[in-house]
Amino acid sequence: MRAMLLDAPKSPLRLGELPIPKPNRGQLLIRVRACGICRTDLHIVDGELTHPKLPLVLGHQIVGTVAEIGNKSESRFNLGDRVGIPWLGHTCQHCRYCLSGKENLCDTVQFTGYDLNGGYAEYAVADDRFCFPIPEAYPDLQAAPLLCAGLIGYRSYKMTGDAQKIGFYGFGAAAHILIQVACYQGKEVYAFTRAGDDRGQEFARALGAVWAGSSQESPPEPLDAAIIFAPVGSLIPTALQAVAKGGTVVCAGIHMSQIPAFAYSILWSERVLRSVANLTRQDGVEFLSLAPQIPIKTEVEVFPLDKANEALTALREGRINGSAVLAIDPELNY
Ligand SMILES: [Zn+2]
Ligand SMILES: [Zn+2]
Repeated sequence: MRAMLLDAPKSPLRLGELPIPKPNRGQLLIRVRACGICRTDLHIVDGELTHPKLPLVLGHQIVGTVAEIGNKSESRFNLGDRVGIPWLGHTCQHCRYCLSGKENLCDTVQFTGYDLNGGYAEYAVADDRFCFPIPEAYPDLQAAPLLCAGLIGYRSYKMTGDAQKIGFYGFGAAAHILIQVACYQGKEVYAFTRAGDDRGQEFARALGAVWAGSSQESPPEPLDAAIIFAPVGSLIPTALQAVAKGGTVVCAGIHMSQIPAFAYSILWSERVLRSVANLTRQDGVEFLSLAPQIPIKTEVEVFPLDKANEALTALREGRINGSAVLAIDPELNY
């Protein structure tokens, strides 16, 4: 099969050939149709996440069809079913986190496209228990961004609780999905982008933001909560200063640049600062049932498999509106 391979951090992906993997008991072989590109993939390529398996097939927003089942009598799926493979690839199911509904924090977790080969390839194997059925309403390309941008974004969004006025710092793949959930639930979104990103601000307004501006600006009124999607540590004190007393700042990304020192006074008054790590299967079930009800529409920019490096560069440079997705099945029209 064709695959884009990461041989070493800080090097471009290489188009190579790998044998089609065989599913073991409890696994599915998926014929990949589309795979979303995530900011996390960039952190892996850039060496900011330091322990990927190598060589590695990146990609953890995989949509495809079941081509082979490791053990048919034990599977929830049938041949030909359309399934999604997310970032959470495998958990132990017996550590204290797995046993308390926090499998996202499992001590011996394995992640798709990091510890396990992912979806920048024509086939992938995945643990049956961690795959999701894909809602029928979504074409393959539009479904892919739901699997991480949507799902982990949704977990971050839930951490804002009953906040009414919510700031989104960084208006990329996750924000463009979560703003639709927020608007559906009657909340107000304040979108912050890089200075001068008029196109991003316009995109946010078109999706329902009540205000959009640069992250160096203050919102017109204090926020109840903020989610930082951009991997920029200096946004933490910025966001803390934008939220009212008792407000929460949620860091949604897996990696951030260094956080500058800040005065305790901006955290004082019961402001809360927290991170969100990974997802649980329960997050996936909830979000994938909510998405078609709203219905969430994803904006995608599509690249062929062998242009994955170009797609990653476009994401790095902030040139993607919505989500970048690799179209891997040659029959996909876009
Ligand atoms: Zn565990
Ligand atoms: Zn991701």
